[in-house]
Amino acid sequence: MENFLALEITNLSKEFKTKQNTIHALKNISLNVNKGEIFGLLGPNGAGKSTFINILAGTVIKSSGSVKVWNFDLDKNPREVRSSIGIVPQETNLDPFFTPRKLLEIQAGMYGIKESERITDKILEITMLQDKADSYARSLSGGMKRRLLVAKALVHRPPILILDEPTAGVDVDLRQQLLENIQQLNKQGVTIILTTHYLQEAQQLCDRIAIINHGQLIALDKTENLLNNILTKKIIFKLKVPKNIGEKLKSGLTINYPKPELISVTYNKNENKIEEIISEVKEKNIEILDILTEDADLEDVFLKLTKKNA
Ligand code: ADP
Repeated sequence: MENFLALEITNLSKEFKTKQNTIHALKNISLNVNKGEIFGLLGPNGAGKSTFINILAGTVIKSSGSVKVWNFDLDKNPREVRSSIGIVPQETNLDPFFTPRKLLEIQAGMYGIKESERITDKILEITMLQDKADSYARSLSGGMKRRLLVAKALVHRPPILILDEPTAGVDVDLRQQLLENIQQLNKQGVTIILTTHYLQEAQQLCDRIAIINHGQLIALDKTENLLNNILTKKIIFKLKVPKNIGEKLKSGLTINYPKPELISVTYNKNENKIEEIISEVKEKNIEILDILTEDADLEDVFLKLTKKNA
């Protein structure tokens, strides 16, 4: 494969000028996405995620900076940029009176793809819609409608697929299935960029994650590294009989009581030794039934970073 990046963003900025003021939706964002990656774009509401995606999609014009998609410059080759990405929107506004096959054929027509070059059946297969290919869209379940949106975005065979909140409003079972579909597509070589509110989902799916807040890039790393950077951990003791052992341990760590029979202590894994915490708690003369530890998750990383940059 030729050696270039899937996405190369340099000093990208966007200001929206309204009558009252100027909103800096993106401030000097620079980031790269590698070919074959699943890349997550996270941030609280209003962070600038949609603006970023809309610039790639060509529906918002950037104020400054450079955008390269599959080695095509957005300013010089907007058409090639557009054909390099497939965008899966959030809303499921499908025409209920067409079948999946018909919708894909119409979409292919809009992209000017000749009938002989269409891969409708292949797309129906990889989005697991073969069985419903000839049913009306209105009879599809929520999960199938989502998959049909993915199918539509794949019609012109883009090497990059961008999913905007792919599982928003999808129930838990379907969410898992949808995530597996995304992983499957990635295995077949599609580079995936997704925005999500569900940190758990990003943690499960993404190779690397960028976190933006107030239009600024505040973190960009491998998912694993982001999680390792959070040093706090939690240890929870389950007691046979509920007991209050005070507010602090000898070492100064705060004791919490999430339930009467539970004692929890949050500690820093660089500063505190878990054995010492356990022996300090044992000194309190209590009968311990169980000890659990909890790792930090992306939620902790996110809270820490967005608080710092508030
Ligand atoms: P996110 O997708 O992360 O929720 P957005 O990209 O939608 O964030 O918004 C980023 C900021 O830009 C917000 O302050 C939003 O109000 C502002 N914004 C987005 N689109 C427009 C627009 N068309 N006109 C004015 N302000 C906008």
